[in-house]
Order: sequence, then C-alpha cells, then structure tokens
Amino acid sequence: MHHLYLHVPFCARRCSYCDFAIAVRKVVPAAEYVECVLQELALRASGWVDPGATPRGLETLYLGGGTPSLLPPDAIATLLTSLFDAFPSTPSLDAVEITLEANPEDVTPAAAAAWRRSRVNRVSLGAQSFDDDVLRWMHRSHDGARISAAVRTLRGAGIENVSLDLIFALPAELERDWSRDLEEALALRPAHLSLYGLTVEERTPLARWISRGASSAPDDERYAAEYLLAHERLEAAGYHFYEVSNAARDGLRSRHNSAYWSRRPYLGLGPAAHSYDGTSRRWNLAQWEAYRRALHSSASPVASREILTPEQRELERLYLALRTDEGLPVTAFPPDRLTAWVAAGWVEVQGDRVVCRPEGWLRLDALVRDLTGTPLVA
Ligand code: SF4
Repeated sequence: MHHLYLHVPFCARRCSYCDFAIAVRKVVPAAEYVECVLQELALRASGWVDPGATPRGLETLYLGGGTPSLLPPDAIATLLTSLFDAFPSTPSLDAVEITLEANPEDVTPAAAAAWRRSRVNRVSLGAQSFDDDVLRWMHRSHDGARISAAVRTLRGAGIENVSLDLIFALPAELERDWSRDLEEALALRPAHLSLYGLTVEERTPLARWISRGASSAPDDERYAAEYLLAHERLEAAGYHFYEVSNAARDGLRSRHNSAYWSRRPYLGLGPAAHSYDGTSRRWNLAQWEAYRRALHSSASPVASREILTPEQRELERLYLALRTDEGLPVTAFPPDRLTAWVAAGWVEVQGDRVVCRPEGWLRLDALVRDLTGTPLVA
C-alpha cells in the first residue's frame, strides 16, 4: 500500500522559531499550486506503477506544510479527488487515513464540513500553547480560546481524530506554565498529541533575538523537566508515547508517521517533499518559486537524490527503531551495554525487545552513537 505526502508551502506569516522553506503569502496562489501538483502527479505516476506487479492502493495520505488549511476547501477537494483517481486500486477510501494539518484560525464550520466531504478524517492542529502571550511571542495568528473552538468545530463536522501539536522548553522569561498547557490540552481529549522541544534554527527571528540578548536560549534542564512532566501527565491520562515526540490514545496512532518510522516506502509531492523507495531517497526543490518554475517549463521538480549505503540503512534502522516503542531486539546489544543502560534507567527490556524509557529518549542520539560508534548523519 502507498503512503503519500503532499507538501503545501504557504503560511500567512513566519513563526518566530520556524526555518522551514515556506512561502509567506497574504493570498495563496491556490489554482497555480493545484495545477503544479497535478502536473507533478502526472509526471511521476508512471514511476510508482510497477508493470506486472499487483497495483497497490493508498493507505495514508498526509497534507502537511506550511499551512495546508490556508488552501480554499475547493482546492483541497480537487487535489484529493485527483490523488484518489491516481490510485484506483485503493480498496476503500473510508479505510485511508487522510490527515490535514491545520492552524486553529482556519477551522471554520464551513471549512471543516468541506474537508470532511473531501474525506479528510484526521486533522493535526498547530496549537503550540494555550497562553496568549506565548502565542504572540511565537508569532502565531490564533489565541488560546481558538484551539478549543477549533476542536469542537472539527468534531461537529464529524472529524473526531484530532491531534494537537504543542511546543515545550520555551525561554524562561516567558514564564510559560507547561503544566497548565498540558492540562488544557488533555481537557480537550484529543486522539493524539505531538510534543516538540523548541530548537533554535539559524536565520529565524528567535535566533536573532537570542544573538542580541532579547531572548534567552532554551536550556537543557528545562527541556528534560518538561519532557518528563509530559510523559507523566499523558500516561496518567491514558495516552501512550509510541514515539519520542508522539502519544496517542488506544488505536489512534498516526499510521502515516508510523510508516516513516518503520522505514516503509513513501511518495512525496509538492515543494520540499521527500520520497523513499526502500533504498534511495529523493527530494523536490524546496522553494515554491523554484518548484513552480520547474513545472511551468515541464522540467522535473526533483532537486536531488541519494542511494543509501548499507551502513546508512543500518544506522537509520537502529535510530528509527529506538525512537519508537518497537525498540530493538535484545540480541542487538552487547550484554554489558544493555546492563548499563537498564541500570541507568534509559531503557527497559520488554520480552525480547529493548525499548527506550523517557530518560533514554532524552538522550537518543547519544545512545545510538554509543551503540554503533557512528555519529548520526543529519
Ligand atoms: S505555521 Fe508552521 S510552517 Fe508556517 S511558519 Fe509557523 S511553524 Fe512554520
């Protein structure tokens, strides 16, 4: 079955911490974007049909960004219909996990109803915090009240499977109450939560604020304390961390992201989208302008590709397995290393598997380095 990712690069403004290749637009060039993606779809469709093989249908489809919810609902409907048509072997569209990333301010009753009619059945909401001062600092366009309104609106439209993104480890001077944010998020009973620690990327407003002393850099102690608190609160509320940054209620894991972590092939369309076929990876031109120019001149939008060496594949396998609650087989560990890691509280043995504890996930890169003797390739 296929896992398909569609990248929508547009945002209304740039968040203070974001270094993604986005296109900030007051008016989204929706018609041109749809035209370009459909052109790429036509260019690529022959590449993912293996002549002679049994045709495979779609298992998951993920519209990420950027801000996909900035696209008008009729543009989303056109895209989804064309993508479904490109995978005629899909047994039942009702069984496909179809996720749309949305910002709370874009969730109106009319938009939510239209998304549902287009068969979107999962929404990942960029909540980030419920604190209005923090949201302003982040340059987000919504306030805290808008998040719960968006969740209610989505449910009213029949989209029950809602995930919330939250950011932790913010600079101390913001006095952000992480515990309260977790409580507010849990009170909404989302199906799923994704929690990301703030990182400082070059050429972002945040990096500039830090360099001129207007903001303090995130500190490791706060990061660890808030990460561990999130584990405690979410596990107590019936959520299970199935990956270092992702927790879900029973049966509500993201099937799309799980495909990445279990190294299943996926296809990506749109600027900056990546594709992986099991042995090689390729990625599209990151900037919207370069992507659209390539397609307007009927050129390939692929920026580059790499064939993974067996060593790279092995390193990736170890890293991804330890990121999730799948873990690694006990036999992957030298016995003395396993004993030391268990004693340190970083991992636990579950049957014949070794799975990270939250304290292990906090030092995941170091653990993989220790296990393989190889620095992680970015
Ligand atoms: S909405 Fe997301 S992609 Fe857009 S600027 Fe903010 S963090 Fe970046």
